[in-house]
Amino acid sequence: MKIAVLPGDGIGKEIVAEAVRVINALNEPFELEFAEVGGAAYEAHGHPLPEPTVRLAQAADAVLFGAVGDWKYDALDSHLRPEQAILGLRSQMKLFANFRPAVCYPELIAASTLKPEIVAGLDLLLVRELTGDIYFGQPRGRRDAPDGDFRGAPEAFDTMRYSRPEIERIARVAFEAARKRQRKLTSVDKANVLATSRFWREVVSDVHASYADVALDHMYVDNAAMQLVRAPRSFDVIVTGNMFGDILSDEAAMLTGSIGMLPSASLNERAQGLYEPSHGSAPDIAGKGIANPLATILSVAMMLRHSLNRVDQAARIEGAVKSALASGVRTSDIWSEGTRRVDTSEMTDAVLAAL
Ligand code: NAD
Repeated sequence: MKIAVLPGDGIGKEIVAEAVRVINALNEPFELEFAEVGGAAYEAHGHPLPEPTVRLAQAADAVLFGAVGDWKYDALDSHLRPEQAILGLRSQMKLFANFRPAVCYPELIAASTLKPEIVAGLDLLLVRELTGDIYFGQPRGRRDAPDGDFRGAPEAFDTMRYSRPEIERIARVAFEAARKRQRKLTSVDKANVLATSRFWREVVSDVHASYADVALDHMYVDNAAMQLVRAPRSFDVIVTGNMFGDILSDEAAMLTGSIGMLPSASLNERAQGLYEPSHGSAPDIAGKGIANPLATILSVAMMLRHSLNRVDQAARIEGAVKSALASGVRTSDIWSEGTRRVDTSEMTDAVLAAL
Protein backbone atom coordinates (compact mmCIF):
# COMPACT_ATOMS: atom_id res chain seq x y z
CA MET A 1 0.00 0.00 0.00
CA LYS A 2 1.38 3.33 -1.04
CA ILE A 3 0.60 6.61 0.73
CA ALA A 4 1.40 9.94 -0.93
CA VAL A 5 2.29 12.44 1.80
CA LEU A 6 1.71 16.11 0.95
CA PRO A 7 2.43 18.30 4.00
CA GLY A 8 1.89 21.70 2.31
CA ASP A 9 2.27 24.98 4.17
CA GLY A 10 2.15 26.48 7.65
CA ILE A 11 1.19 24.00 10.35
CA GLY A 12 0.59 21.44 7.57
CA LYS A 13 4.27 20.48 7.78
CA GLU A 14 4.22 20.16 11.59
CA ILE A 15 1.04 18.10 11.94
CA VAL A 16 1.80 15.78 9.02
CA ALA A 17 5.22 15.00 10.57
CA GLU A 18 3.35 13.90 13.73
CA ALA A 19 0.85 11.80 11.76
CA VAL A 20 3.77 10.08 10.01
CA ARG A 21 5.19 9.13 13.44
CA VAL A 22 1.87 7.42 14.17
CA ILE A 23 1.83 5.60 10.80
CA ASN A 24 5.38 4.37 11.41
CA ALA A 25 4.43 3.12 14.88
CA LEU A 26 1.83 0.78 13.34
CA ASN A 27 4.66 -1.36 11.90
CA GLU A 28 2.77 -1.99 8.68
CA PRO A 29 4.52 -2.31 5.30
CA PHE A 30 3.14 1.01 4.02
CA GLU A 31 5.29 2.84 1.50
CA LEU A 32 5.36 6.61 2.10
CA GLU A 33 6.36 9.02 -0.64
CA PHE A 34 6.54 12.79 -0.03
CA ALA A 35 5.89 15.72 -2.39
CA GLU A 36 5.42 19.46 -2.20
CA VAL A 37 2.04 21.10 -2.59
CA GLY A 38 0.54 24.58 -2.18
CA GLY A 39 2.81 27.53 -1.39
CA ALA A 40 5.77 25.19 -0.81
CA ALA A 41 5.36 23.81 -4.35
CA TYR A 42 4.96 27.31 -5.77
CA GLU A 43 8.27 28.34 -4.16
CA ALA A 44 10.08 25.26 -5.44
CA HIS A 45 8.46 24.72 -8.86
CA GLY A 46 6.45 27.86 -9.68
CA HIS A 47 3.07 26.09 -9.39
CA PRO A 48 0.94 25.07 -6.36
CA LEU A 49 0.14 21.67 -7.89
CA PRO A 50 3.09 20.50 -10.03
CA GLU A 51 2.59 17.60 -12.42
CA PRO A 52 4.82 15.16 -10.42
CA THR A 53 2.68 15.79 -7.31
CA VAL A 54 -0.50 14.97 -9.27
CA ARG A 55 1.09 11.81 -10.68
CA LEU A 56 2.22 10.69 -7.23
CA ALA A 57 -1.27 11.28 -5.78
CA GLN A 58 -2.97 9.42 -8.63
CA ALA A 59 -0.66 6.41 -8.32
CA ALA A 60 -1.06 6.11 -4.54
CA ASP A 61 -3.75 4.15 -2.67
CA ALA A 62 -4.30 7.17 -0.45
CA VAL A 63 -3.10 10.74 0.00
CA LEU A 64 -2.30 12.27 3.38
CA PHE A 65 -2.68 16.03 2.97
CA GLY A 66 -1.70 18.66 5.55
CA ALA A 67 -2.95 22.15 4.66
CA VAL A 68 -2.12 24.86 2.14
CA GLY A 69 -2.16 28.63 2.12
CA ASP A 70 -0.48 31.65 3.60
CA TRP A 71 -1.40 35.31 3.61
CA LYS A 72 1.85 36.09 1.80
CA TYR A 73 0.39 34.53 -1.38
CA ASP A 74 -2.78 36.67 -1.32
CA ALA A 75 -1.53 38.90 -4.16
CA LEU A 76 -0.84 35.99 -6.59
CA ASP A 77 -3.06 35.35 -9.61
CA SER A 78 -5.88 33.05 -8.54
CA HIS A 79 -4.60 30.03 -10.56
CA LEU A 80 -1.25 30.22 -8.70
CA ARG A 81 -2.69 30.54 -5.20
CA PRO A 82 -1.93 27.60 -2.86
CA GLU A 83 -5.64 26.81 -2.33
CA GLN A 84 -5.88 25.85 -6.03
CA ALA A 85 -3.88 22.72 -5.16
CA ILE A 86 -6.67 21.16 -3.14
CA LEU A 87 -9.31 22.03 -5.76
CA GLY A 88 -7.03 20.60 -8.47
CA LEU A 89 -6.45 17.35 -6.57
CA ARG A 90 -10.19 16.91 -5.96
CA SER A 91 -10.96 17.22 -9.65
CA GLN A 92 -7.92 15.27 -10.97
CA MET A 93 -8.59 12.36 -8.59
CA LYS A 94 -12.38 12.63 -9.16
CA LEU A 95 -13.01 12.79 -5.41
CA PHE A 96 -16.80 13.11 -5.36
CA ALA A 97 -17.59 12.03 -1.79
CA ASN A 98 -16.52 14.08 1.21
CA PHE A 99 -16.81 12.51 4.69
CA ARG A 100 -16.79 14.79 7.71
CA PRO A 101 -17.39 13.11 11.03
CA ALA A 102 -18.32 15.29 14.02
CA VAL A 103 -17.61 13.52 17.29
CA CYS A 104 -17.84 15.17 20.70
CA TYR A 105 -15.30 13.59 23.06
CA PRO A 106 -16.50 13.53 26.70
CA GLU A 107 -13.28 15.25 27.82
CA LEU A 108 -13.88 18.18 25.44
CA ILE A 109 -17.56 18.84 26.11
CA ALA A 110 -16.75 22.22 27.65
CA ALA A 111 -15.13 23.36 24.38
CA SER A 112 -18.49 23.30 22.55
CA THR A 113 -20.57 26.46 22.39
CA LEU A 114 -23.68 24.32 23.02
CA LYS A 115 -24.89 23.05 26.39
CA PRO A 116 -23.22 19.78 27.49
CA GLU A 117 -26.53 17.89 27.57
CA ILE A 118 -27.09 18.73 23.87
CA VAL A 119 -23.67 17.57 22.60
CA ALA A 120 -22.71 14.78 25.03
CA GLY A 121 -22.34 11.58 23.01
CA LEU A 122 -22.60 13.34 19.64
CA ASP A 123 -21.27 11.16 16.82
CA LEU A 124 -22.51 12.03 13.34
CA LEU A 125 -21.12 11.72 9.83
CA LEU A 126 -21.83 14.25 7.12
CA VAL A 127 -21.43 12.98 3.55
CA ARG A 128 -21.17 15.85 1.06
CA GLU A 129 -21.20 15.55 -2.75
CA LEU A 130 -18.07 17.36 -3.82
CA THR A 131 -17.78 17.67 -7.59
CA GLY A 132 -21.20 18.84 -8.83
CA ASP A 133 -24.02 21.27 -7.96
CA ILE A 134 -24.05 25.04 -8.34
CA TYR A 135 -20.29 25.23 -7.63
CA PHE A 136 -19.45 23.65 -11.01
CA GLY A 137 -22.68 23.83 -13.04
CA GLN A 138 -22.56 25.53 -16.44
CA PRO A 139 -23.60 27.98 -17.77
CA ARG A 140 -22.44 30.65 -15.38
CA GLY A 141 -21.14 34.16 -15.71
CA ARG A 142 -22.19 37.76 -16.14
CA ARG A 143 -24.49 39.30 -18.71
CA ASP A 144 -27.23 41.88 -19.14
CA ALA A 145 -30.44 40.47 -17.66
CA PRO A 146 -32.48 39.05 -20.59
CA ASP A 147 -35.85 39.30 -18.79
CA GLY A 148 -37.63 40.16 -15.56
CA ASP A 149 -38.09 43.45 -13.71
CA PHE A 150 -34.42 44.31 -14.14
CA ARG A 151 -34.14 43.45 -17.84
CA GLY A 152 -31.03 45.02 -19.40
CA ALA A 153 -29.26 45.55 -16.04
CA PRO A 154 -25.92 43.80 -15.44
CA GLU A 155 -26.42 40.50 -13.56
CA ALA A 156 -24.48 37.38 -12.55
CA PHE A 157 -25.80 33.82 -12.58
CA ASP A 158 -24.82 30.21 -11.69
CA THR A 159 -26.50 26.91 -12.54
CA MET A 160 -27.56 24.28 -10.01
CA ARG A 161 -27.69 20.87 -11.67
CA TYR A 162 -27.34 17.19 -10.77
CA SER A 163 -27.57 14.12 -13.00
CA ARG A 164 -29.09 10.78 -11.93
CA PRO A 165 -25.77 8.83 -11.87
CA GLU A 166 -24.15 11.62 -9.87
CA ILE A 167 -26.86 11.43 -7.18
CA GLU A 168 -26.94 7.62 -7.27
CA ARG A 169 -23.23 7.23 -6.54
CA ILE A 170 -23.20 9.65 -3.58
CA ALA A 171 -26.38 8.06 -2.23
CA ARG A 172 -24.81 4.59 -2.42
CA VAL A 173 -21.69 5.79 -0.59
CA ALA A 174 -23.87 7.32 2.14
CA PHE A 175 -26.06 4.22 2.52
CA GLU A 176 -22.91 2.05 2.76
CA ALA A 177 -21.51 4.34 5.46
CA ALA A 178 -24.81 4.23 7.37
CA ARG A 179 -24.71 0.44 7.21
CA LYS A 180 -21.44 0.50 9.16
CA ARG A 181 -22.97 2.80 11.80
CA GLN A 182 -26.51 3.17 13.25
CA ARG A 183 -28.25 2.46 9.90
CA LYS A 184 -29.99 5.82 9.78
CA LEU A 185 -29.62 8.20 6.83
CA THR A 186 -31.01 11.72 6.53
CA SER A 187 -30.99 13.20 3.01
CA VAL A 188 -30.98 17.00 3.05
CA ASP A 189 -32.38 19.11 0.20
CA LYS A 190 -34.67 22.02 -0.59
CA ALA A 191 -37.32 20.05 -2.48
CA ASN A 192 -40.10 22.51 -1.60
CA VAL A 193 -38.43 25.11 -3.86
CA LEU A 194 -35.78 23.60 -6.17
CA ALA A 195 -36.31 21.25 -9.13
CA THR A 196 -32.77 19.89 -8.57
CA SER A 197 -33.73 18.98 -5.01
CA ARG A 198 -36.99 17.27 -6.04
CA PHE A 199 -34.95 15.13 -8.44
CA TRP A 200 -32.33 14.50 -5.71
CA ARG A 201 -35.07 13.28 -3.33
CA GLU A 202 -36.56 10.99 -6.02
CA VAL A 203 -33.17 9.40 -6.87
CA VAL A 204 -32.11 8.92 -3.23
CA SER A 205 -35.46 7.20 -2.58
CA ASP A 206 -34.86 4.92 -5.60
CA VAL A 207 -31.40 3.93 -4.30
CA HIS A 208 -32.98 3.21 -0.90
CA ALA A 209 -34.69 0.18 -2.49
CA SER A 210 -31.27 -1.59 -2.40
CA TYR A 211 -30.69 -0.62 1.24
CA ALA A 212 -33.90 -1.59 3.00
CA ASP A 213 -31.94 -2.26 6.20
CA VAL A 214 -31.12 1.47 6.49
CA ALA A 215 -33.82 3.91 7.67
CA LEU A 216 -34.08 6.92 5.33
CA ASP A 217 -35.67 10.26 6.00
CA HIS A 218 -35.64 13.54 4.05
CA MET A 219 -35.23 16.99 5.54
CA TYR A 220 -35.24 20.51 4.14
CA VAL A 221 -31.88 22.23 4.52
CA ASP A 222 -33.23 25.10 6.63
CA ASN A 223 -34.74 22.62 9.08
CA ALA A 224 -31.50 20.57 9.07
CA ALA A 225 -29.52 23.69 10.02
CA MET A 226 -31.90 24.21 12.92
CA GLN A 227 -31.95 20.56 14.06
CA LEU A 228 -28.14 20.45 14.04
CA VAL A 229 -28.03 22.94 16.90
CA ARG A 230 -31.32 21.87 18.54
CA ALA A 231 -30.88 18.08 18.65
CA PRO A 232 -27.63 17.09 16.89
CA ARG A 233 -27.65 13.60 18.40
CA SER A 234 -30.80 12.76 16.43
CA PHE A 235 -28.57 12.36 13.34
CA ASP A 236 -26.45 9.37 12.35
CA VAL A 237 -25.43 9.94 8.70
CA ILE A 238 -26.43 13.01 6.66
CA VAL A 239 -26.09 13.09 2.86
CA THR A 240 -26.44 16.27 0.85
CA GLY A 241 -25.27 18.19 -2.20
CA ASN A 242 -22.17 20.30 -2.57
CA MET A 243 -23.44 23.72 -1.46
CA PHE A 244 -25.72 22.62 1.39
CA GLY A 245 -22.93 20.26 2.54
CA ASP A 246 -20.36 23.04 2.52
CA ILE A 247 -22.44 25.06 4.96
CA LEU A 248 -23.79 22.25 7.15
CA SER A 249 -20.37 20.58 7.54
CA ASP A 250 -18.90 23.71 9.09
CA GLU A 251 -21.91 24.02 11.36
CA ALA A 252 -21.56 20.37 12.42
CA ALA A 253 -17.83 20.89 12.98
CA MET A 254 -18.40 23.71 15.43
CA LEU A 255 -20.70 21.54 17.57
CA THR A 256 -17.60 19.72 18.74
CA GLY A 257 -15.79 22.86 19.85
CA SER A 258 -12.39 22.57 18.25
CA ILE A 259 -11.38 22.64 14.62
CA GLY A 260 -8.07 21.04 15.68
CA MET A 261 -9.88 17.74 16.35
CA LEU A 262 -11.73 17.20 13.07
CA PRO A 263 -10.54 14.85 10.33
CA SER A 264 -11.99 14.54 6.83
CA ALA A 265 -11.87 12.18 3.87
CA SER A 266 -12.63 12.66 0.18
CA LEU A 267 -13.13 9.49 -1.86
CA ASN A 268 -13.53 8.49 -5.49
CA GLU A 269 -15.22 5.48 -7.05
CA ARG A 270 -12.14 3.29 -6.51
CA ALA A 271 -12.11 4.14 -2.76
CA GLN A 272 -8.89 5.97 -3.37
CA GLY A 273 -8.98 8.88 -0.98
CA LEU A 274 -7.48 12.15 0.14
CA TYR A 275 -7.33 12.54 3.91
CA GLU A 276 -6.80 15.87 5.64
CA PRO A 277 -7.67 17.79 8.77
CA SER A 278 -10.72 20.04 8.38
CA HIS A 279 -8.72 23.11 9.37
CA GLY A 280 -6.34 25.22 7.27
CA SER A 281 -2.64 26.07 7.50
CA ALA A 282 -3.10 28.39 10.52
CA PRO A 283 -0.34 30.88 9.60
CA ASP A 284 -0.92 32.63 12.94
CA ILE A 285 0.56 29.72 14.91
CA ALA A 286 2.82 28.11 12.25
CA GLY A 287 6.37 27.39 13.40
CA LYS A 288 5.51 27.65 17.10
CA GLY A 289 5.11 23.90 17.65
CA ILE A 290 1.74 24.36 19.37
CA ALA A 291 -0.72 23.13 16.70
CA ASN A 292 -3.07 20.31 17.62
CA PRO A 293 -2.02 17.22 15.58
CA LEU A 294 -5.11 15.14 16.46
CA ALA A 295 -7.26 16.07 13.42
CA THR A 296 -4.45 14.83 11.16
CA ILE A 297 -3.84 11.71 13.26
CA LEU A 298 -7.59 10.97 13.12
CA SER A 299 -7.43 11.51 9.34
CA VAL A 300 -4.90 8.66 9.25
CA ALA A 301 -7.47 6.50 11.06
CA MET A 302 -10.04 7.38 8.36
CA MET A 303 -7.46 6.48 5.70
CA LEU A 304 -6.93 3.06 7.26
CA ARG A 305 -10.70 2.47 7.42
CA HIS A 306 -11.80 3.73 3.98
CA SER A 307 -8.82 3.25 1.61
CA LEU A 308 -6.33 0.82 3.19
CA ASN A 309 -8.93 -1.63 4.47
CA ARG A 310 -7.47 -1.81 7.97
CA VAL A 311 -10.44 -1.15 10.23
CA ASP A 312 -8.53 -2.78 13.12
CA GLN A 313 -5.68 -0.27 12.94
CA ALA A 314 -8.15 2.61 12.48
CA ALA A 315 -9.89 1.63 15.72
CA ARG A 316 -6.51 1.35 17.49
CA ILE A 317 -5.62 4.94 16.57
CA GLU A 318 -9.05 6.29 17.55
CA GLY A 319 -8.81 4.46 20.87
CA ALA A 320 -5.31 5.87 21.44
CA VAL A 321 -6.54 9.42 20.82
CA LYS A 322 -9.34 8.91 23.36
CA SER A 323 -6.82 7.54 25.89
CA ALA A 324 -4.45 10.45 25.30
CA LEU A 325 -7.29 12.91 26.01
CA ALA A 326 -8.35 10.92 29.06
CA SER A 327 -4.78 11.17 30.40
CA GLY A 328 -5.33 14.93 30.66
CA VAL A 329 -2.93 16.32 28.04
CA ARG A 330 -4.20 19.19 25.87
CA THR A 331 -2.76 21.43 23.16
CA SER A 332 -3.56 25.13 23.66
CA ASP A 333 -6.67 25.11 21.43
CA ILE A 334 -8.44 22.57 23.67
CA TRP A 335 -6.80 23.40 26.99
CA SER A 336 -9.02 24.06 30.02
CA GLU A 337 -8.45 24.53 33.77
CA GLY A 338 -7.19 21.35 35.43
CA THR A 339 -5.59 19.82 32.31
CA ARG A 340 -1.91 19.74 31.28
CA ARG A 341 -0.89 22.01 28.41
CA VAL A 342 1.43 20.24 25.93
CA ASP A 343 2.97 21.09 22.57
CA THR A 344 2.40 19.39 19.21
CA SER A 345 4.92 16.57 19.59
CA GLU A 346 4.08 15.91 23.26
CA MET A 347 0.47 15.36 22.23
CA THR A 348 1.64 12.79 19.67
CA ASP A 349 3.86 11.20 22.35
CA ALA A 350 0.70 10.64 24.44
CA VAL A 351 -1.05 9.01 21.47
CA LEU A 352 1.98 6.79 20.76
CA ALA A 353 2.19 5.78 24.43
CA ALA A 354 -1.49 4.75 24.33
CA LEU A 355 -0.96 2.85 21.03
P1 NAD B 1 -7.39 27.98 9.71
O1 NAD B 1 -8.21 26.75 9.85
O2 NAD B 1 -6.03 27.81 9.16
O3 NAD B 1 -7.29 28.71 11.14
C1 NAD B 1 -8.44 29.21 11.85
C2 NAD B 1 -8.07 29.34 13.34
O4 NAD B 1 -7.99 28.03 13.92
C3 NAD B 1 -6.71 30.00 13.58
O5 NAD B 1 -6.78 30.81 14.73
C4 NAD B 1 -5.77 28.84 13.83
O6 NAD B 1 -4.68 29.15 14.67
C5 NAD B 1 -6.71 27.81 14.48
N1 NAD B 1 -6.31 26.43 14.16
C6 NAD B 1 -6.47 25.80 12.97
N2 NAD B 1 -5.96 24.57 13.04
C7 NAD B 1 -5.47 24.41 14.28
C8 NAD B 1 -4.80 23.35 14.95
N3 NAD B 1 -4.53 22.16 14.36
N4 NAD B 1 -4.41 23.53 16.23
C9 NAD B 1 -4.66 24.68 16.85
N5 NAD B 1 -5.29 25.73 16.29
C10 NAD B 1 -5.69 25.60 15.00
O7 NAD B 1 -8.25 28.99 8.80
P2 NAD B 1 -7.85 30.44 8.22
O8 NAD B 1 -7.05 31.19 9.23
O9 NAD B 1 -9.14 30.99 7.74
O10 NAD B 1 -6.97 30.13 6.95
C11 NAD B 1 -5.54 30.12 6.95
C12 NAD B 1 -5.04 29.65 5.61
O11 NAD B 1 -5.44 28.28 5.43
C13 NAD B 1 -5.62 30.42 4.43
O12 NAD B 1 -4.61 30.62 3.48
C14 NAD B 1 -6.71 29.49 3.90
O13 NAD B 1 -6.97 29.68 2.54
C15 NAD B 1 -6.09 28.16 4.16
N6 NAD B 1 -7.03 27.03 4.24
C16 NAD B 1 -6.61 25.85 3.70
C17 NAD B 1 -7.40 24.72 3.78
C18 NAD B 1 -6.88 23.45 3.19
O14 NAD B 1 -5.68 23.33 2.99
N7 NAD B 1 -7.71 22.45 2.92
C19 NAD B 1 -8.64 24.78 4.45
C20 NAD B 1 -9.04 25.99 5.04
C21 NAD B 1 -8.21 27.12 4.94
